[in-house]
Amino acid sequence: MEVLRAPIFDVHRTFSDGALAIDAGRIVYCGDYKPFPDAKTIDLRGGFLLPGFVDAHVHFPQLRIIGRLGRSLLDWLDRFALPEEARMADISYATEIARDFVHALVSNGTTTALIFGAHFVPATVALFEAAERTGLRAISGFVFSDRALPPELLQKPEDAYRASKLLIKKFPRYAITPRFAVSASEAMLEVCQTLAREHPGLWFQTHINEQPGEIQDVARRFGWAQDYFGVYERFLQNEARVVLAHNVHPREAELERMAARGVSIAHCPSSNASLGSGIFPMRRHLDAGVRFALGTDVGAGSGASVMREAFAAYLMQRVAADGVRMDAGEMLYRATLAGAEALGLETETGSLEAGKSADIVYLRAPEGSVLAGALKRVEDPTQALEALFTMASAESVREVRMAGEVVFSRKPDSRM
Ligand SMILES: [Zn+2]
Repeated sequence: MEVLRAPIFDVHRTFSDGALAIDAGRIVYCGDYKPFPDAKTIDLRGGFLLPGFVDAHVHFPQLRIIGRLGRSLLDWLDRFALPEEARMADISYATEIARDFVHALVSNGTTTALIFGAHFVPATVALFEAAERTGLRAISGFVFSDRALPPELLQKPEDAYRASKLLIKKFPRYAITPRFAVSASEAMLEVCQTLAREHPGLWFQTHINEQPGEIQDVARRFGWAQDYFGVYERFLQNEARVVLAHNVHPREAELERMAARGVSIAHCPSSNASLGSGIFPMRRHLDAGVRFALGTDVGAGSGASVMREAFAAYLMQRVAADGVRMDAGEMLYRATLAGAEALGLETETGSLEAGKSADIVYLRAPEGSVLAGALKRVEDPTQALEALFTMASAESVREVRMAGEVVFSRKPDSRM
């Protein structure tokens, strides 16, 4: 058994002098510090222990195009995202990106992620393998499209089906991943439905209601559907765990049906702002009882930090006409347990409750940084957590553990 001693910020509870005891990869105690005579105790005071972060929406093939600003969604896809995604046909390039992508997530404190794979099977395999090597709990899938994209990104529905069957056998944490209704015909969505029926318990991820142009396009293509969600709804299986990215412009009837169906939304505030998609109607989601978590949405987002995404959500809600006032505890919940709940993994990860996998982030501000100075002046733990969400960057992620094993550690000499 190993014991970590430090202030702990867990979901809905704080221990200013805490102990986290780990045995065989599991958390066996999380609470006020007490001596464990038979265990090795590591003194980590000076930093903070938090649950590992959960990224509910991120694209592995877009790592290198973060920062292309000033475009709308369909324009940004054509100009930047899709050409870069086409480069994933080159397996050596895709393997390099997969390695860098997984490192980007883990070094930002992410221990679990729902990831859009590539439009190519070998590149998607490279992602799964990179995640396995690093210890990241990755749920992902080969991206389906059979129209409206450059021809090199398209597959025939029957080929998509066959490839998925092989991938599912090899990688059980598999997400059925049609890119969006614009680029997936009914035949392709039927493949999704068949896969979900044949493999109960898989995940299903796609995009919804991101920008008006996209929504109109979907309405034109699926004349029979009452709205955008109605398209997916028709092909969804009850067993699948469904995560839909964005939902910036939902209708009331969609929110009602999303709540009833138990789908989750991945809210990606940096991406929404950067592409000019709009402000996420968080209050309407809360009022309707639609579950939501956070996604960094690399590469339309600003990077792989879920903490920064939580802070972006806070900022957007502060300027929204009907915004929700997110406090630091709410930001922590959205960055961790809400993601685990969206993925149906809340009994395994997302908080530091005893019995869960020891997926832990150790944050410690670099010596001499503005954050370190601010942390010296805080009056209570809430202010410390607020300062962390406002200022902590990857440089403050000192160590990340996955099932108790150190999967990332940073030398303490880097200055912000
Ligand atoms: Zn996306």
